[in-house]
Amino acid sequence: MSEPVIDTQEPETDHGYDYDLIVIGGGSGGIALAKEANALGAKVAVFDYIKPSPQGTTWGLGGTCVNVGCIPKKLMHTAALIGDRSQDGTAFGWTNSVGHGTERKPHHQWGKLVEMVQDHIHGLNFKYRTDLRKKGITYHNLYASFIDAHTVEGKKDGQEEGKRFTARRFAIAVGGRPLYPDIPGAKEYCISSDDIFSMEKEPGKSLVVGASYVALECGGFLHGIGNDTTIMVRSVPLRGFDRECADKIVNVMSDEGVKFYQPCVPLSVNKLESGKLSVEYENVETKEKKTEEFDTVLFATGRYALTQALNLENIGVKTDKVGKIFVNKYEQSSVPHIYAIGDVIVGGLELTPVAIKAGKLLAARLYNSSKKMMDYDKVPTTVFTPVEYGSCGLTEEEAVKRYGAENLTIYKKSYYVLEYEPPARECQAFVKLICNELDNERVLGFHYVGPNAGEVTQGFAVAMRCNATKEDFDDTVGIHPTCAETIVKLEKGVETDTGC
Ligand code: FAD
Ligand code: NAP
Repeated sequence: MSEPVIDTQEPETDHGYDYDLIVIGGGSGGIALAKEANALGAKVAVFDYIKPSPQGTTWGLGGTCVNVGCIPKKLMHTAALIGDRSQDGTAFGWTNSVGHGTERKPHHQWGKLVEMVQDHIHGLNFKYRTDLRKKGITYHNLYASFIDAHTVEGKKDGQEEGKRFTARRFAIAVGGRPLYPDIPGAKEYCISSDDIFSMEKEPGKSLVVGASYVALECGGFLHGIGNDTTIMVRSVPLRGFDRECADKIVNVMSDEGVKFYQPCVPLSVNKLESGKLSVEYENVETKEKKTEEFDTVLFATGRYALTQALNLENIGVKTDKVGKIFVNKYEQSSVPHIYAIGDVIVGGLELTPVAIKAGKLLAARLYNSSKKMMDYDKVPTTVFTPVEYGSCGLTEEEAVKRYGAENLTIYKKSYYVLEYEPPARECQAFVKLICNELDNERVLGFHYVGPNAGEVTQGFAVAMRCNATKEDFDDTVGIHPTCAETIVKLEKGVETDTGC
């Protein structure tokens, strides 16, 4: 393995800079890196500052995941699941429950949910701040920009002059923010994932534009808590995921009442006197245009890297055309003492545990002579849609491209979920294992659509990292009665059963 580029010839201590390491961005990756580096003896400062969203939303320390990402999303997803499951109560003997059927769903109070979510987030912000202070890591609530390759200036909005700080090394972990399409009314009247989790007004009839993780997850919980919800898909939902699994999610959501407008894009958004938003949109194939009114329009149309204000071009840090930073496998940018981790790097994965692991490993390499690198292969992930979808490894499409369909055996099964049977829920679980015939049926791809997909996939991801074969799966004794036991009992050609 090649060695990292020597980042500077300067001594590790007595180098004359204010800090050994300045971390720009106090999100998942930045905080993990700062804490680990500090624990290994480095003098560390973290800069974290939130510019308001176009709707004026801001938040505290901890980055996207804690404030406007994973955490509030999972809590709102849980709210939707609780409402959904509460309809099953009568089948299980609860006399005071409201019975099965969407028309008798319990009433949901948006304001209460937002209050709970925001209280939880504020608690986490407080814990992050006190943790940094206790550990002796300096937290600057300032927006940082490079003056030269060893100096940053930190400023708050509206300040003319900032404060300057120097460091021997830097790590950029500034993450990203939601992208808005360039159409009239988008930034004026619409919201993004930066706003939805703290929005005071009830969402009401909602349009979600986009069709990836954020769109389907937000559309899922908005519908699940009782809002009339439409998702506008430009091309295909969940591009890059296993197609069969992505289609199953969309089918379940459609069956439950979410509307999908596909293949469509919005053209403009106008605010009416009634306060409603009038959206003109177009079918990109037929060119047919239509207009519809909504109470809330949420753009989930991707994210951009937050590097524009860092002055990177002047210090020689190279970025791609969307502002992501090129790094080598040691996470060094084109300026060797300036590192980058998390959502901001070219070719990474925009997931919290990836940013955290990359941060910890980088600290161990810099301050503990570790040689361990971040491994971006076989990273598990879960989409928290009404029926959850977890995966690890290759999709069927990727496996066919890499190994050829003739060299693969695909084991798959749709099966009933025990606890969905008494209330007569239609939704089934689905599992798919993609195995390489050329390598002892090594499992190349794991896909599971069903309850608790995050929990299920986390465990199987260990087997995937251990390069398990189909035989290893078969030799594993199942846990009965669970949905996950089917994954260790798959047989060639048996694609449905009753789940017993
Ligand atoms: P961030 O967490 O984005 O932190 C960067 C921080 O740097 C921010 O606070 C930013 O304001 C600050 N900053 C930027 N520029 C400057 C500057 N110049 N000076 C000072 N501070 C600056 N991932 C999962 O694994 N599971 C999920 O369920 C999941 N759900 C998600 C749901 C949503 C709606 C979204 C949007 C994302 C979700 N993600 C999820 C992705 C996850 O949130 C990100 O991958 C993760 O937060 C990236 O961490 P990071 O450290 O790279 O950046
Ligand atoms: P994304 O994966 O980049 O997807 C953007 C979506 O918006 C795509 O469906 C895209 O359609 C659509 N789109 C883009 N421009 C559009 C336009 N002008 N009009 C209509 N549709 C448009 O972005 P994301 O959903 O924001 O997710 C960002 C990252 O956050 C993900 O990669 C993921 O790693 C992370 N994340 C993770 C989780 C999780 O772990 N559960 C949850 C949320 C987010 P096309 O396919 O046609 O381009």
